[in-house]
Amino acid sequence: MSSHPRRAPDVLIVGGGPAGLSAAVLLGLRGVDVLLVERHPAASTLPRAHLLNQRTMEIFTEMGVADIVYDLSPPEDRWHKVAWHTTLAGTSAPFGQVLGTLPAWGGGPDAERYARASPCLYANVPQLRLDPVLRARAEAVCGPENILFHHELTALSPSGEDYGEGTVATVRDRGSGRFHEVHTRYVIAADGGRTCADLLGIEMDGPTGLLDMVTVHAGIDLSERISDDEVLLRYFINPDGRGSFAGVLCAMGPGRWGRNSVEWAVHTAFRTDDPARHDRAVVLDRCRRMLGIPDLEVEVHAVSHWEFEGVVARRQRLGPVFLTGNAAHRHPPTGGLGLNTAVQDVHNLAWKLDAVLTGQASDALLDSYGTERRPVGEFNVQHCLTNAGGHARIAAALGLRADQSEKEGWEAITEWLADTPEGETKRVAVAEAIASNADDFSQLAVELGYHYESGALVPDGTPAPEGNNPLRDYVPTTRPGHHLPHVWLNRGGSRESVHQLIAPRGLTLLVDAEHASQWAAAVQAAGGTGATVHVRVIGSGAEWTDPTGDWAVVRGVDSGGALLVRPDRHIAWRVPDWSDDRPAELRQSVCLVLSLQPSHTQPLPMTSPAT
Ligand SMILES: Cc1cc2nc3c(=O)[nH]c(=O)nc-3n(C[C@H](O)[C@H](O)[C@H](O)COP(=O)(O)OP(=O)(O)OC[C@H]3O[C@@H](n4cnc5c(N)ncnc54)[C@H](O)[C@@H]3O)c2cc1C
Repeated sequence: MSSHPRRAPDVLIVGGGPAGLSAAVLLGLRGVDVLLVERHPAASTLPRAHLLNQRTMEIFTEMGVADIVYDLSPPEDRWHKVAWHTTLAGTSAPFGQVLGTLPAWGGGPDAERYARASPCLYANVPQLRLDPVLRARAEAVCGPENILFHHELTALSPSGEDYGEGTVATVRDRGSGRFHEVHTRYVIAADGGRTCADLLGIEMDGPTGLLDMVTVHAGIDLSERISDDEVLLRYFINPDGRGSFAGVLCAMGPGRWGRNSVEWAVHTAFRTDDPARHDRAVVLDRCRRMLGIPDLEVEVHAVSHWEFEGVVARRQRLGPVFLTGNAAHRHPPTGGLGLNTAVQDVHNLAWKLDAVLTGQASDALLDSYGTERRPVGEFNVQHCLTNAGGHARIAAALGLRADQSEKEGWEAITEWLADTPEGETKRVAVAEAIASNADDFSQLAVELGYHYESGALVPDGTPAPEGNNPLRDYVPTTRPGHHLPHVWLNRGGSRESVHQLIAPRGLTLLVDAEHASQWAAAVQAAGGTGATVHVRVIGSGAEWTDPTGDWAVVRGVDSGGALLVRPDRHIAWRVPDWSDDRPAELRQSVCLVLSLQPSHTQPLPMTSPAT
């Protein structure tokens, strides 16, 4: 066994899943020297995540992979619904019944409000097809020699707060068996929770081992068994679910979707102490039972197990190490937020690491990563756990209980079909229970409205706006900590989202054409921090104009005001109007946001001066 120094990247990324690969791309595009190590020889072949929400697609656009992802996604009319069934097929009622459906992920009546809220549409690509796209992009941006699959992190030293100028990681080349030392300033733990938190002794809080979910990824011909094409996910509520859902069927394409999908993921729920869950014949029998097709031909590609849990790390930074994605929080998939939150974690972290490594910010800026992201992870985990309960509400409305026999369960479902007052009451209750699941499938406020109350920002004392339904109704706002709302602007005859005005490095000051020269002078006068502030002007005679007036409505400040926006497009600071104090306030805010000590030695670099 040999151990010798291999190289010294600025950032070592542990894990080649969505979090790690996205981190590599986002840092690589900024010119940061990264090394990524992934334990497995190739990207995961398990179906796992597939729902990619609009914030994630905005980030994928920045990463240069959005077009490929949309190409892999189903046509819009082939996936924007979710359904609940008793079983998929069956010779007689109550088998083969559709209990109800809901529009999902920006489909049907939600289409317009989702489209208005972001320049990007939702996408749906199984992770086994997404991860290779991310890997190829990471290799193109960072160089294949810096994206090392079949290499694993085995130790971190020192692993505490006192890390001085960096840390030393031990990486094993699993092909040769040789160990290498990697000296690095920072480590992004994107290991899915399999390594770094344990090495660092960071504990996770929350329920674990709720269920053992078994996923069969298989080629199945269901074209004669399904009569609609719009449903992507089908939940099965029957006595096997013991008071909740018995399992889920998810179309996986590729190329053909709806009833003609070639591949499917069939998820069934087992108790964690049920030894039968490791018996493939039992698992396949459970799948066939759930679908109500005893003789179904199944061409199995893979069988995998995953734990139904909802846990959050007590901290997301320890010295030079940052926990991201599943290493920091693990969600049940009900809500489709695991991968999305993972990508959004590293988007928050990448610009901060770049700013610190290029001397635009101090190391203290990196503390804001956990301050900002941990509450989001915690909220999303709780929300996904709550979503899981939505299916139990449907089961309860049907009269299904964990302690009843199978026969009693089917009798309870039969009553739902009965032409009696009791049957009618049950149908109303089931319909209401299904409708309440819109908190999961129309959760636009969760997906786009996440924001930070403290961190790398200057609060302005205003309360966070909230819609009637705080999970579904996204309220665009420029309140500090929130994401810059999307509005289409005009640039030389073409439409461009206001998001595109935000520079990937430095801070961006959005101002109105009426007061552009004052703000440009303010940036100049407020100099001395060493940080770059880009001025972007919107309005009459400027490069970007607001022909619809939408920007004037949503910007939340008057024509003399300004918004200071971070590279991750979250608002850092805003002022409602112009005053002579603004240059000093701007300077102080830049220092606060980037954790810099004010000094008066040099002017702020300024780009794109006001027109
Ligand atoms: C059935 C199912 C459906 C889901 N659906 C959705 C969905 O629709 N939307 C959504 O957002 N999320 C969904 N998720 C969750 C999503 O899959 C995860 O949240 C996501 O994969 C997390 O990405 P990650 O990069 O943090 O971790 P992972 O994808 O787990 O990647 C971690 C990587 O680190 C590697 N690794 C671990 N230890 C080491 C080491 N010591 N050295 C080197 N490499 C190491 C592992 O091999 C692995 O490749 C779903 C999950 C499941 C199971």
